Amino acid sequence: MIPAQFDYAAPTTLQEALGVLADAGEDVKVIAGGQSLLPILRMRLNAPDKVVDLGRIEELRGITDDGSHLVIGAMTTYADVLASSAVRDHATLLVEAVRTVADPQIRHRGTVGGALVHADPAGDVGAPVLALGADFVITGPGGERTVPADEFFRDLFETAVGEGELLTRIRVPKHTGWGAHYEKFVRVAHQWSIVAVGATVRVDGGSIAEARVGLTNMGSTPLRATAVEQALVGRPATEEAVREACAAAAEGTDPPSDLNGSADYRRHLATVLTRRAVLAAAGA
Ligand SMILES: Cc1cc2nc3c(=O)[nH]c(=O)nc-3n(C[C@H](O)[C@H](O)[C@H](O)COP(=O)(O)OP(=O)(O)OC[C@H]3O[C@@H](n4cnc5c(N)ncnc54)[C@H](O)[C@@H]3O)c2cc1C
Repeated sequence: MIPAQFDYAAPTTLQEALGVLADAGEDVKVIAGGQSLLPILRMRLNAPDKVVDLGRIEELRGITDDGSHLVIGAMTTYADVLASSAVRDHATLLVEAVRTVADPQIRHRGTVGGALVHADPAGDVGAPVLALGADFVITGPGGERTVPADEFFRDLFETAVGEGELLTRIRVPKHTGWGAHYEKFVRVAHQWSIVAVGATVRVDGGSIAEARVGLTNMGSTPLRATAVEQALVGRPATEEAVREACAAAAEGTDPPSDLNGSADYRRHLATVLTRRAVLAAAGA
């Protein structure tokens, strides 16, 4: 289908974009890579009066290293993340997750910021970014504010980004030397996760010294498996010890029931995938 008619603006600076948003009022939509928004417009599930294209704002793109964190511009594409040696070295879990997203065309257009603001609970970037303890920098007419990952995802398709605001960058604490793995369960290739688990661990002398585990599609937002994280610390990176710790993977989750599986099936999947992800991350 063809989208309903809308006005189009393509600002070249962040300030200009914020000005256009402020002038446009309520019925405006921002477009990044368009990989979620365009299908929505084409199906006329949304028909904004105005679309503001962020594609020409260079300051929103790119990955830098500020010492303790990687700073990823909201308009950085999945492909840019996969090509970055800095992300591979310091936030390996993000690379592991991004490589499972859709297909090369979508990874070429789709942006990290777009995926995070879209906040599909089955999206593959939210849980890793949550597990890595990232901060989200949101810019609006009043300036910048920083929101921690555990306050960014509010509900199904809802985040802390408000009207007239833009997500401008994501600050990911470096996890240098940590092993990482993203275990995604799908029926066929190039699909959204039925359930997925991102695990990153630091192994010291054969034991797990620190662990972060994020769950995809186990509730209306990405979730941390904190009970598993705590249970893993101090355990040897062996199949038996990890299996025991991962039994708590579904604790505190509220997974959906749909054509792909019931909530109970997803709870079962979460324990199996968490064990696999942690063992792979630990190199066991
Ligand atoms: C066929 C297909 C398969 C897919 N498979 C997967 C998959 O396997 N795994 C997966 O995780 N995803 C998958 N996706 C979804 C896709 O990865 C992301 O949802 C998409 O790339 C979002 O990023 P975007 O840059 O295209 O955002 P857009 O579609 O342009 O925007 C998405 C939303 O975010 C808002 N937005 C964008 N950027 C900003 C910003 N900086 N500030 C404020 N608001 C903003 C927009 O207004 C819009 O509401 C798939 C999509 C398709 C079409």
